[in-house]
Amino acid sequence: MIFEHMKKIALLLIAVILLAGIAYYFMSLPTSPGVKAGSKGDVNSAHQADVKLGLKGCDICGYNALEKKGAICGNCGEEISNKAVQAENLSSIEEYIIIKQIEHFMPDTLGSSIDFLNPSISPNGYPKNSNWRPKVYETQIYEIQKAMLEADQRQLDTTATTEPAS
Ligand SMILES: [Zn+2]
Repeated sequence: MIFEHMKKIALLLIAVILLAGIAYYFMSLPTSPGVKAGSKGDVNSAHQADVKLGLKGCDICGYNALEKKGAICGNCGEEISNKAVQAENLSSIEEYIIIKQIEHFMPDTLGSSIDFLNPSISPNGYPKNSNWRPKVYETQIYEIQKAMLEADQRQLDTTATTEPAS
């Protein structure tokens, strides 16, 4: 019984550490909003009616937009592979997907609601995979975004008075 209880606490602790790690990851990124991959140029200026079928689902954005498993997603431009995980200095695919989902779904405005499951057809014609569910909650993205904005603010406040670490 006591053991069960300890197990729960341990699990909770792991969840907290994971989330803190993710928050830290985002805060250590250079802050340059608006530089999103694929926002330049309209390579996929497909008509709304051209729905692309027969593709594999992307675990990050949830659209069926992969030529094959491990390929670069035609919708979000991300690639899920061990190489990509290593390039981001992360320890697992799970963590990688969470981080990429936070990046992908973070709204431009803090607190804007996130609709993970819509639109059912992406602007570039990929259908949403109906079995897909996000690994992050809207509130988690909101908390991380808030922490990032607060960290930015603190940085602005203290740029003039940078104290040495020791
Ligand atoms: Zn994707």
